[in-house]
Amino acid sequence: MRLLIVEDELRLASALQRGLTAEGFTVDVANTGPDGLHQAQENSYDAVILDIMLPGLSGYRIIEHLRAAENWVPILMLTAKDGEYDEADALDLGADDYVTKPFSFVVLLARLRALLRRGASPRPAVLQVDDLVLDPAAHTVTRGETSIDLTPREFALLEYLMRRAGEAVSKAEILHHVWDAHYEGDANVVEVYVGYLRRKIDTPFDRQTVQTVRGAGYRLASTKS
Ligand code: CA
Repeated sequence: MRLLIVEDELRLASALQRGLTAEGFTVDVANTGPDGLHQAQENSYDAVILDIMLPGLSGYRIIEHLRAAENWVPILMLTAKDGEYDEADALDLGADDYVTKPFSFVVLLARLRALLRRGASPRPAVLQVDDLVLDPAAHTVTRGETSIDLTPREFALLEYLMRRAGEAVSKAEILHHVWDAHYEGDANVVEVYVGYLRRKIDTPFDRQTVQTVRGAGYRLASTKS
């Protein structure tokens, strides 16, 4: 899951980035309004955490621009009780939820997870393909009765493939959503991790859920005929 934080308080922004990265998210940060809008338009995020008072362009203007362009990315607003705006404004103007500063990280994470579950379009709380089940909230993966241990990166890769089950997904898209936007290492890392994943979710069960689509990338699909 890939997130954008738009926040001009540098310490808060980097604390959020650290915390969310530790939770397995891929996190980009923008520190000004115009940069935040630019990144939100250029990249495809699973959610945006958006401050209101920002240099250059307010959070509200950013929402207006995004929604006017029919970008429905889920937005969690950071509001301040003593601010010029209040929570009702945030929701009126197209945010999906808000937390009021100062907030605890635990509360923000819970709201964010709820938002990701609801998503921009309805998404199932639990992802399932055949007997392979991934629960994003509980952070568990099972195949039938067997629970499967994945590293955070393997989990993020599987979650992304399962959210797009049945579609061919390119290595570039995978890299973009599961690794950092600024990742400059070898793109073959995707192949390597797909291999790790297959050895955990497919090989022991004699399945081929993660299929190679020649020239296109990968597709996670039902193997039931
Ligand atoms: Ca601010």
